[in-house]
Amino acid sequence: MSKTIFEYSSSGRKGVTLPRRDIDTPLEKMIPAEQLRQKPARLPEVSELDAMRHYIGLSHKNHFIEKGLYPLGSCTMKYNPKLHEALVRHSCFNNLHPYQPECTLQGSLEILYDLQEALAEISGMHKVTLQPVAGAQGEFTGIKIVAAYHKAKGNHHKTRIIIPDSAHGTNPATCALVGFEPVELKSNSRGRCDLDHLRSIVDDRTAGFMLTNPNTLGLFEDQIEEIAEIIHSVDGLIYMDGANLNALLGIVQPGKIGFDVMHFNLHKTFTTPHGGGGPGCGPVGVVEKLAPFLPVPMIGKNEDGYFFDYAHAETSIGKVHTFYGNFAIQLRAYIYIMTLGAEGLRRVSENAVINANYLMALLKDHFHIQYPEYCMHEFVADSSWQKKEYGVSTLDIAKRLLDKGYHAPTVYFPLIVPEAMMVEPTETESKQSLDAFAAAMIEIAQECREHPELLHDAPLNTPVRRVDDVRAVKVLDPVFPIQE
Ligand SMILES: *Cc1c(COP(=O)(O)O)cnc(C)c1O
Repeated sequence: MSKTIFEYSSSGRKGVTLPRRDIDTPLEKMIPAEQLRQKPARLPEVSELDAMRHYIGLSHKNHFIEKGLYPLGSCTMKYNPKLHEALVRHSCFNNLHPYQPECTLQGSLEILYDLQEALAEISGMHKVTLQPVAGAQGEFTGIKIVAAYHKAKGNHHKTRIIIPDSAHGTNPATCALVGFEPVELKSNSRGRCDLDHLRSIVDDRTAGFMLTNPNTLGLFEDQIEEIAEIIHSVDGLIYMDGANLNALLGIVQPGKIGFDVMHFNLHKTFTTPHGGGGPGCGPVGVVEKLAPFLPVPMIGKNEDGYFFDYAHAETSIGKVHTFYGNFAIQLRAYIYIMTLGAEGLRRVSENAVINANYLMALLKDHFHIQYPEYCMHEFVADSSWQKKEYGVSTLDIAKRLLDKGYHAPTVYFPLIVPEAMMVEPTETESKQSLDAFAAAMIEIAQECREHPELLHDAPLNTPVRRVDDVRAVKVLDPVFPIQE
């Protein structure tokens, strides 16, 4: 491995030469003494080229979608068009100030208005707010709206929200945060909601139901109409966790099949680079009867143009974020929707579903698949065969994949599949790249049979070997030995 940047350091070597300062006051006069550094920072002195090599080298130690397939189920790690990244950085947009008068923001407001409308059309919902800045915050906003609806109707006895056992952890967390009690619903042998169990737990206390569709097993919840009937019969509301919308674009409108409120994850379905937990956007769509509770402001339009609309401030749940949310992500989603159009969006979902089914077919003889029906945009395989026969766990397999240049799938989730590996290839991978990934997985299955001890030691050629996950979150100073 190459030398570190400190070994390249040589006293007096510089990357850039700045123009001479044209103010005479010495720094010591401008900055209070106690804030001045006593000793020079221990920085390497290197050329620009060496500095660039250092950072480029570091970036390659990480995994990113431009480096290799990133099949992280439920996260939709798809390719983000570079043209869109360039457009978002245009000075028209990044010189805006949120306190500018509306009349100077008409173009940007038009984009936000059109995005609200486009998302409403895609989801079949009546109105959409763009304010929330994450899927989880969208959930919070949506469930606050459920609470506001019941409060307005005097439904004070409604304290519970039903959530399937395959749900993402943010769903019960959201309910608890808003003050509801989450109640767990069992899945049936088909990996869908168990309706007999649902009937037995629904009662007058049921405020709502949160469902991810397709669910986290990658299966379409095909009993949604019966579920809607059961929940609506007690005046409960149905929330859709829209994190898996990548499977439904142009095919299913959630607002037309029984859902009352939902969130979108723009950073998943509508492209924004989001590895590492970077900024997100979680718009929320609602049916007509819930529109009065949406956050303010909405983006409105009248004969004078576009404006921040506070008309329903009295009934609104209020604001959920400063200003108007994450504009640059809203903008990426708008560009994505406009460049693809209705036809293109539908093809996104069709290809995402075809890719997932193709990959599942390639892997099904090598890894156990608990729910082997055709999947939507992702599927859940598991390592139960490898665990039982060779003592190799999903963690071992995930680590070995890193050696082969791939990001691991989502592991040990959903919780109802032991040793789960949740794979979402997305529509942006070619047949060749899916074949290569399947070949790597099949090679690993063979290694499990022939050298299980190798798997316990993996990863063997990454810069950092197995980290102690518990220690890593508690001790932020990285003390892990870096492999040179
Ligand atoms: C990603 C995800 C969430 C949370 O969304 P964030 O944008 O990460 O806050 C919720 N539910 C499901 C099913 C998800 O995949």
